[in-house]
Amino acid sequence: MQRLAGKRALITAAGQGIGRATALRLAEEGAEVLATDINEAALAEIAGTPGITTKVLNVLDPEAVKEAIAAAGRIDILFNCAGVVHAGDILTSTEDDWDFAFNLNAKAMYRMIRAVLPGMVAQGGGSIINMASVAGPLTAPPNRFIYSASKAAVGGLTKSVAQDYVKQGIRCNAVCPGTVDSPSLHQRLRDTGNYEAALEAFIARQPMGRIGKPEEIAAMVAYLAADESAYTTGQLLALDGGWTI
Ligand code: NAD
Repeated sequence: MQRLAGKRALITAAGQGIGRATALRLAEEGAEVLATDINEAALAEIAGTPGITTKVLNVLDPEAVKEAIAAAGRIDILFNCAGVVHAGDILTSTEDDWDFAFNLNAKAMYRMIRAVLPGMVAQGGGSIINMASVAGPLTAPPNRFIYSASKAAVGGLTKSVAQDYVKQGIRCNAVCPGTVDSPSLHQRLRDTGNYEAALEAFIARQPMGRIGKPEEIAAMVAYLAADESAYTTGQLLALDGGWTI
């Protein structure tokens, strides 16, 4: 399908996991994709894919974000994917953990949207897709205090941007995945000290009996990016194997 022919997309955290799968999917659908990440080596693995240009971008660096957006030209689709999963409850988490996670999971999205929005308004439209999670906006898994709080903030940010810019042709939605196979998921499983038991517990949370594939999230982002979803804004869409039924 070439639903995105003629559209230009910018993706953060496109080096691996869901961001990478989305860069590949949007390019397959005809978009010109600027795939950004802090990890140059990871980006190198998708550089050269038709339709994809790569650029190192640390979303925690306000100047770098400003420069990247100024240099990017027209952007029709922004997928804010960068985020970090912090493990811990309220008593085992520190204020530094909170600040780091909120900076990456929420403030960086504010920064990216603030930079991209004037161009979208001037061109009369755009689709912004934010990476939330079921954790926070829709439910609260154990030991994800800061993560859930920061992803709930993404939900509010998404609805607020959608509300304020609906008349200017801007759409802003969020995807809320359950557990999805990605490099950082495997690290989180190893960090528990019992990979197999942790994997089993993660799988058990999803009634479908499996974790999700990055490509399944990418498919929803592609839909939200495309004009086919033109009547949808301000929504938090769960893709979670039935976790939040
Ligand atoms: P991942 O965690 O394996 O990879 C994250 C990517 O983000 C890496 O390529 C990394 O280099 C990049 N990154 C980190 N800091 C950055 C920064 N400051 N600037 C730019 N890029 C940076 O990938 P994933 O698991 O697919 O997670 C991607 C997003 O999806 C995150 O926001 C995560 O919270 C969210 N999410 C993941 C799951 C899951 O189970 N994997 C579920 C729900 C939501």
